[in-house]
Amino acid sequence: MHILVTNDDGVTAPGLLALTQEMKKLGKVTVFAPDRNWSASGHVKTMERPLRVRETILADGSPAFTSDGAPSDCVALPLLGLLEEKVDMVVSGINPNANLGHDVTYSGTVTAAMEAVIDGLPGIAVSLDSPENHGGKLDYATAASVARRVVEQVIAEGLPKGVVLNVNVPYLKESELKGFMVTRQGLRVYRDELDRRLDPRGRPYYWIGGQAPTGVDEPGTDFGALRAGYVSITPLQLDLTHHKMMDTLKKWKF
Ligand code: MN
Repeated sequence: MHILVTNDDGVTAPGLLALTQEMKKLGKVTVFAPDRNWSASGHVKTMERPLRVRETILADGSPAFTSDGAPSDCVALPLLGLLEEKVDMVVSGINPNANLGHDVTYSGTVTAAMEAVIDGLPGIAVSLDSPENHGGKLDYATAASVARRVVEQVIAEGLPKGVVLNVNVPYLKESELKGFMVTRQGLRVYRDELDRRLDPRGRPYYWIGGQAPTGVDEPGTDFGALRAGYVSITPLQLDLTHHKMMDTLKKWKF
C-alpha cells in the first residue's frame, strides 16, 4: 500500500505531520504538499507558470516533497510521473477546520482528494472541526486515528471509481466520539461581509470578512453529524449534474 499524503495548509502544518505518522502504520507514505497555505483555493490546475518541486523534511525528520503549486497540483505532479513508484490512494489533511456542505468546492483539502479521483485513485479528505478561535496547539490525535480507521476500511472494501470520501471529525477525545455517521452534504450558512478599507495612498482595497460560517443542523447531514458528536463521512462525486433540472431544461425553447 503506497499512500500519497497532502494538504492545503502547507508542508509545515501540524495536521499533515499527524496524518503522515498515522498513515505510516498502513504502508509506504509519500508526502507531497504545498510550500504555503492554500486554504479555500478550490480546485486548481497551474498552467500559466512553471512549477518548482523541492525535497524537504517534516518536523519529525521524515522526507517530503513540496511545491509552489496548489494542493491539486501537488497530487497531479506525482501521479503524472514525478514519482516513479505507483501510488494506491491519496489522503488529504488533516485540515484544522471542518469542510462541510458548500465548503467542498472552496476547500483545497477536498479538491486535492478530488484530483486523485480524476487520476483514477481513491481520494480521502480529512478535516477536524476545531473550535472557533481556538488558541494554541490543536490536538490532531483523534482525527489521525479516525483517518487510519477510514483508510483501513477503504483498503479492505475498495472505493468505486469517482468517489471521494469527505471525512469530518469532531474536536473530541476518541473515547468521547458517538460513532461514525454516513452523511450527505448539509447547508452551510456563510456570513461573509465585504470589508472596504483604504491603503496609505487613499485607494480602496477589500477583504471578504465577516464571521466564520455556521450551518443548518439537520439530521443525516455532515453538519448535523458533527453537532451530535459523530464522525461524518460523506461520499462525494465530481458529477455535479442536477438531474431533475435536465427534464425542465429540455422543455425550454432555445
Ligand atoms: Mn486548510
